[in-house]
Formats: sequence, structure tokens, C-alpha cells
Amino acid sequence: MSPSHYENGSCSNCKRENLPVRMYGTLVKLPEGGYGFGDRWLCDSCAPRLELIPQVKLIKGRLYKILCRNLKTGIYDGNGGFIGIREKLGSCYLFTEYHFDHGHIGTVRGMEDTGIQLPDGIPLETRLGSEDQITKRPVAFDRPVAEGGKGWFFTDTGEASEAIWPCAVGNMELFKFLKDHEAGGEGEK
Ligand SMILES: [Zn+2]
Repeated sequence: MSPSHYENGSCSNCKRENLPVRMYGTLVKLPEGGYGFGDRWLCDSCAPRLELIPQVKLIKGRLYKILCRNLKTGIYDGNGGFIGIREKLGSCYLFTEYHFDHGHIGTVRGMEDTGIQLPDGIPLETRLGSEDQITKRPVAFDRPVAEGGKGWFFTDTGEASEAIWPCAVGNMELFKFLKDHEAGGEGEK
């Protein structure tokens, strides 16, 4: 399916308003090269840039603008995934969407390299394990006690406890990095 006719509107990528845009209704090869993906109105300067870069050419730790269901930007995790900030029902959290080549779960169909690289030292994970809500010590889960495992235990001592109240630890440094660059990345380049 080729892009629609031109209409005057705003570009869903660069957010510029009142300019000719075309809707890309599905994965299409663009006349300018690359691919575009739809339910998106894109201006002529954005559409060719948001091409489907082959997975092998992506750079781990690099921030990309992406065309997909739930994210606007994502950091490539080196393994087919882009980690970005998803907003749902008023809350924001780190979420991964996968490259289109990544089997049936692939939803990211276009991307543009921003040239921004995640600093070393910030882990490329949506979560950093779990901790006990009360003591704030790191915890992990073995097999269930009923199956001969020790259930939840403190990873610093190996001690199992039924009093552990496990809670996922968010990767706040990565969240902050994405938030800062999302806020600063709007508008003209
Ligand atoms: Zn645009």
C-alpha cells in the first residue's frame, strides 16, 4: 500500500504543523528509499529518514526515534529491543518493543539514529532485579518452597525468609536519561 494523497496537517514525527503530510497506512517502501509505517501522518522530510534499519546495523546503547505502537524513542539494547518510556493510564514506565525483523513480536518498523549514546555505566535493562520493601536489601526468587526450593531470599546473605516483601527495582537512571532526551528532542532538528 502506498502513502495517501497529501493533506495539510501536522507531522506526527517532527510535530511541525500546517504543512503537507501523507499517511503511511502500513509498512511501505518509500519512493525515496527505506520504509514508512502507518497510522502516521509524516511530512516529506521525516518519512524518508524513518527507514527500517537492518538489525545488524543498529548500535547498542544508541537512542533512536522509532515508529511503533507505544514508544516515540528507544535505546537499542543490542538484542533486537528498543527500551523507551511508555505512557499508559497516566503512568510512565520503561517498556521494550522489538525490531520488525525480530519474529512475530516485532513492532518497530522504522527508526532514525539520533546520534545520542547512552553513557557507560547505565544498565540497559528495564528493571534492576528486586528488593525487599522493608529492608531495601536485594532479593531474588528460587523455586517455590513446595517444590523443594527456598522461595524468596536475600541475595547478599542467601538467607530465605517468608517476611520478604519483594518489589521490582526500576532503572531510574535509564528512565531519567530517556526523559531528558525526549523532552529536549522535540521540534526541528
Ligand atoms: Zn516531519
